[in-house]
Amino acid sequence: MKILVAVKRVIDHNVKIRVKADGSGVELANVKMAINPFDEIAVEEAVRLKEAGKATEVIAVSIGDATAQETLRSAMAIGADRAILVQRPTEMVLEPLDIARLLQKIVTKEQPDLILLGKQAIDDDCNQTGQMLSALLGCAQATFASQIVIEGERVQVTREIDGGLETLSMGFPAIVTTDLRLNEPRYATLPNIMKAKKKPLEIIDVATLDFSPLGQVKILNVAEPKKRTGQCTLFNDVSALVTELQAKEVI
Ligand code: AMP
Repeated sequence: MKILVAVKRVIDHNVKIRVKADGSGVELANVKMAINPFDEIAVEEAVRLKEAGKATEVIAVSIGDATAQETLRSAMAIGADRAILVQRPTEMVLEPLDIARLLQKIVTKEQPDLILLGKQAIDDDCNQTGQMLSALLGCAQATFASQIVIEGERVQVTREIDGGLETLSMGFPAIVTTDLRLNEPRYATLPNIMKAKKKPLEIIDVATLDFSPLGQVKILNVAEPKKRTGQCTLFNDVSALVTELQAKEVI
């Protein structure tokens, strides 16, 4: 069984985001970048399935500029066997439907049985790509996975939903998007980081893919959240808090 894992290069989650002065986006120059945390969980899960003898090959795919090669090397250091970079010019803006259309082309080429994505990228928080890819491919999907079990010709996915867990069974090919509690990704060891440098990384220029961005979504402005101005008040007991809330007509 072949597993394709989509990984996005995003600003490292420990970095304090700074908005550009002209409101056109966030500052990316000299900022530490990393693999999107949900995608790291997806790679870890794929590698665990391979280690458990359920999968034969794990392929990481990213759509980005040349710098995304580093992200793919990180995926291979976790254990992906090879990687594909769909390389776009740095200035090319892609919305989730564009990413899904490009992933569809890679799926058509690679014919994976299972396609793993993060539930969302922590930079744009869209939570759309997996669902859109499933619609384009016409295949089953299970989002927000907290457990993935492969049993013969089917995959069983437990999903975190409001008020509990739901378990779905899907035939292949299937799309699964990962949630936080699926696993805890391993730290890549130095020998595995070194090994990853030698693993195959195919670069496909987006210009060769008969593709142009839809340009349906335009970012009008990016702004920082308003600074909190309210003072914090400590109350000695609950009745004092209730009296204050009643005085302010909150309750
Ligand atoms: P989003 O819909 O943007 O929140 O992204 C959801 C998931 O789609 C991510 O966690 C990735 O697995 C995948 N994805 C989004 N953008 C890219 C990209 N540029 N390259 C590869 N995978 C991506």
